[in-house]
Amino acid sequence: MVKLQVFFFPLMTHGHMIPFLDMAKLFASRGVHSTIITTPLNAPAFAKGVQKSNDLGFEMSVKILEFPKVDGLPEHCENADQVTCPAMLPIFFVATKLLKDQLEQLLEEYRPNCLVADFFFPWATDSAAKFNIPRLVFHGSNYFASCAGEQVRLHRPFENLINDSDEFFVPNFPHKVKLCLSQIPPYERAEGDTEFAKMLNEAESQLRSHGVIMNSFYELEPEYVDHYRNVLNRRAWHIGPLSLCNRSLEEKAERGKQAAINADDCLKWLDSKSVNSVLFVCFGSFTKFPSEQLHEIAMGLEASGQQFIWVVGKGRNDKETEDWMPEGFEERMTGKGLIIRGWAPQVMILDHGAIGGFVTHCGWNSTLEGIAAGVPMVTWPSFAEQFYNEKLITDVLRIGVGVGAKEWVAGTGGGNIKRDAVETAVRSIIVGEEAKERRNRCKGLKEMAKRAVEEGGSSYSDLNALIQELSLYPTSI
Ligand code: UDP
Repeated sequence: MVKLQVFFFPLMTHGHMIPFLDMAKLFASRGVHSTIITTPLNAPAFAKGVQKSNDLGFEMSVKILEFPKVDGLPEHCENADQVTCPAMLPIFFVATKLLKDQLEQLLEEYRPNCLVADFFFPWATDSAAKFNIPRLVFHGSNYFASCAGEQVRLHRPFENLINDSDEFFVPNFPHKVKLCLSQIPPYERAEGDTEFAKMLNEAESQLRSHGVIMNSFYELEPEYVDHYRNVLNRRAWHIGPLSLCNRSLEEKAERGKQAAINADDCLKWLDSKSVNSVLFVCFGSFTKFPSEQLHEIAMGLEASGQQFIWVVGKGRNDKETEDWMPEGFEERMTGKGLIIRGWAPQVMILDHGAIGGFVTHCGWNSTLEGIAAGVPMVTWPSFAEQFYNEKLITDVLRIGVGVGAKEWVAGTGGGNIKRDAVETAVRSIIVGEEAKERRNRCKGLKEMAKRAVEEGGSSYSDLNALIQELSLYPTSI
């Protein structure tokens, strides 16, 4: 029998490349030939995973497209994580749009059975259609946030609000979910379609595509799986948590980029701590806090008296210096707090029994990794769909406490949360009766997540159904 061939085409940013690689590995482990499409400087991020998969007898490969040259981007910038200011992002997206011709040449030459393309490439639907190839959308989000975003976009419940703090409920929703005006992205609040909103024309691109792949599992958000499918009438398959396809310690330690800490040293540090006693503080691959905010986090963590691992990415503050560091902070925290400057082996850390709380920006990968590891969260959203993810964590699943972030700001994380708010939130996630109850709910979700990806589980079965459907799809001519 001829192998099913699926092409995977992620946006060049680690928050998308990581789940795409997991997804491609997962498909390959089910007998599909998975091919990842990327650009020269991003290819190394996939090399090890692809090699390992092939060593295990699965079939994976990488195809390279040249990154288009456009004015206004730094030299050698092929990854959105490298843009030096948020205003450059639209230029980056213009560059990715210029990949269309090269993509079409690949599709014409190889005629895969399916193209799974990033949500940020709405134009890929037409490219695939030219060759009668079904295009699936992957936006790296979940049902809850997708439903909320769509209901808010359609009904604009914030329309008559004036002040940033004025509140509204998400319309037509199974749960009562309240947000305030400043948590809605500015391009959505604007009258008419801005260029950015147009580019993100999610509804159109998704409705014309074959359907959506969700990094989620049924038991996590059953009402919203049903809402998405039956109320919004979208076709979707949930196949997550994708991070769970990384089973060995090595795979978990090497996920994404080269870690800035030796995995053994990190584990030794964690092994010396008691169960549920350490906070993991990490804000994803993209958010860069201003120095003032980093300073408040340091003061809040110290005042809380809790132990922590804090990922302050290299050059992640606005000035590339450590002027945020309170005097003597690192010395005082010796043995109690570990600072990682650069990339952390996040999944490996979250899975360690010593971790008792996760301070997160609510990026969906991080959120689901926290859920799969059974860790309660302090929520600190800043952009994309992160404010919706926060509501899922705090109000629906009741496994987290908000730090009080209210302002949608791309890239720089708002930056006005005071040390007292940090101290209160992090202490309450580790200490007290409510913390215990939250932890128990997390344990239940962790078990459900594990079962979902095992043979016969909800995600396992949905992936089977998808592969079956693709193999019956009339092949391209
Ligand atoms: N990540 C990591 N180490 C870091 C920072 C991030 O492994 O130091 C991974 C994290 O595990 C997750 C991804 O990068 O898989 C970040 O994705 P998410 O959706 O949480 O946030 P984004 O980076 O897109 O804002």
